[in-house]
Amino acid sequence: MHYIYLDYAATTPLDPDAALAAKPYYNNLFFNPSSLHALGQKAAGAVKNAREKCAFAINADSSEIYFTSGGTESINWAMRSVAGEKRHIVVSAIEHDAVIACAEYLEKNGCEVDYIKPNKRGTITVDALNSVLRDDTALVCVMAVNNIVGSIQPIKELAAAAHGKNALFFTDAVQAMNGLNVDVKDWDVDMLAVSGHKFYAPKGTGFLYVKRGTVIESMMFGGEQERGLRAGTVDVPSVVAMGVAAEKAQRLRENYVAHAKTVTEAFTKALDYGDIIECENKTDDIVCVRFYSEHKNIDGGRIAVALSCAGVCCSVGSACSAGSATSPKTLLEMDVEHANTAVRFSFGRKVSVAAAVNAAKIVNETIAKLLQ
Ligand code: PLP
Repeated sequence: MHYIYLDYAATTPLDPDAALAAKPYYNNLFFNPSSLHALGQKAAGAVKNAREKCAFAINADSSEIYFTSGGTESINWAMRSVAGEKRHIVVSAIEHDAVIACAEYLEKNGCEVDYIKPNKRGTITVDALNSVLRDDTALVCVMAVNNIVGSIQPIKELAAAAHGKNALFFTDAVQAMNGLNVDVKDWDVDMLAVSGHKFYAPKGTGFLYVKRGTVIESMMFGGEQERGLRAGTVDVPSVVAMGVAAEKAQRLRENYVAHAKTVTEAFTKALDYGDIIECENKTDDIVCVRFYSEHKNIDGGRIAVALSCAGVCCSVGSACSAGSATSPKTLLEMDVEHANTAVRFSFGRKVSVAAAVNAAKIVNETIAKLLQ
């Protein structure tokens, strides 16, 4: 069966240039970058180069980049290492499960957590943040791009508000690397989490940006890797691939954004059913559609399964919570009615207009059958 894959927010394929760059480090350049000898130093040079490319992609200094295994680890590291004397934390209510679960963990360990609701159009406003900030707020966590509806948050303004109370600001930028100009200096964030497999790098790669001067605790104890803060031998081929992919994502960004707009416009125009979940400001590559009908309330999970049988792969919520039968939390927090009928379509570099229109036709046929 030929499938049209519209689930790029769940994961992307490996970029061919990234795969090519990684290959020698699996073969003749397999050395340990921590080894002092000349061969080890060749691997260390490749890791250094990859770190510089990752730093370039987010306008950071390479000394501010810490390699991790992905978004979840970067998020855990950032959030769990800042709970100092100040015990109040602010988290947006539409964060990925990784952030919410860390906040719950911190709450169990004596922190007070305030969750901020978005407005009806998916934005976490500065006013909403200001209403919960306190003198003892240690950390504010708001994602750059929401993974369910694609809403883009006003990170620069939110970070400034947090800094006004001397709180640190952390952003989960996992869904931002393809479509946004991720600029840590302009946004003035203290920490930022990234996941490789969302921007055509291998799964199991990612990094945490930590602004120079911000103190974080060790993620893992052991050797001196990652400046002694995350022990364990660095996966050289994977970070080499991530460096190439990060740089390429930035280089392709303008074309990517234009392409995503064209393709998703064609897709939504060809849809006969459904209401698009609109946002104040959103990326074009994520399209969340609610298929509510007065005639029949069909669950998003059922729609996604039927679409998969018909050849279109999409998702209901984030891939990590796909097993649960509940409505996406983001939609509930945005007060979207009949959120249980929503499905997320997410687009990538290689989706053509023809494929998007074809997918929309399959959606039309599938929904028509389900409504019978
Ligand atoms: N944050 C967001 C917004 C995500 O969409 C995801 C993955 O879906 C993650 C974090 C987790 O990233 P990873 O899969 O690299 O652990």
